[in-house]
Amino acid sequence: MTEIPELIITQANELTQRLLESKTIGHNVPPLFAEDYAQLVNIKRVEKMDLGDLSALLLPEKGGYAIKINSKHHPLRQNFSFAHEIAHILLDKALDESTEHTELRATKQMDGKFKERLCERIAAELLMPKTIFTNYLNQQGISVNSILRLAHAFYTSIPATARRIAELSEEPCIALYWKLVKRPRWREFKPCLIWLSDSQYEIPKFLSVSQNSSVFEAFQTTSSTGQFESFALGNIKRPFYIESKGFGQKPQRYIISLVFPQRKKA
Ligand SMILES: [Zn+2]
Repeated sequence: MTEIPELIITQANELTQRLLESKTIGHNVPPLFAEDYAQLVNIKRVEKMDLGDLSALLLPEKGGYAIKINSKHHPLRQNFSFAHEIAHILLDKALDESTEHTELRATKQMDGKFKERLCERIAAELLMPKTIFTNYLNQQGISVNSILRLAHAFYTSIPATARRIAELSEEPCIALYWKLVKRPRWREFKPCLIWLSDSQYEIPKFLSVSQNSSVFEAFQTTSSTGQFESFALGNIKRPFYIESKGFGQKPQRYIISLVFPQRKKA
């Protein structure tokens, strides 16, 4: 019995393989553009236009699909949205063809939110294929200092690249995304956790750290910070190795941290 998410990830990997073997790109180096995959999944037409709040639209049409991409969005985002819609094609096909062999805890359990997250995951798979990305990652080293170079190489956003690093790191690793926030009760701005990559740790929803934290320090400097720091990941507050780096300028500035929960103090 194969579950739908596994099945689609396998299909996405096969698609990448076909793309790499095809004459369209014919090399093993990134970046891979979502548009390169279009033919392989029967996308007949690509239109770029102002779609307001929407990132992209997938429209079935005779013998395939048409896709509309929001031209107002940053090109990196357009590329990722495009890949996300390709994931929907794979997902819809898998759901259509599902038999008892592809047991879906699916149809019922696979709600909209789950589907969207799965498509994000598949989009990352298409643009940052496991084998190629892992190669690059091992050359660069698993560190916040590698995110920018990998993002440039794969033509992906910094947050998406950080998530992928955490996903593919051999050493357990969690990616955290922070913004500086001031809540009414607080006297000062503090780094607040906005999202984190999948992890086995229960992490408080509105986790924040003080201005003494190395996360805050990363907001102030251009270099990265890295140290053991005590904070609440899971139920127990204990020291974790955390690396942080700031990206972008105020007020859009954000911090990406990589936490290595199993790393021990020397
Ligand atoms: Zn979607």
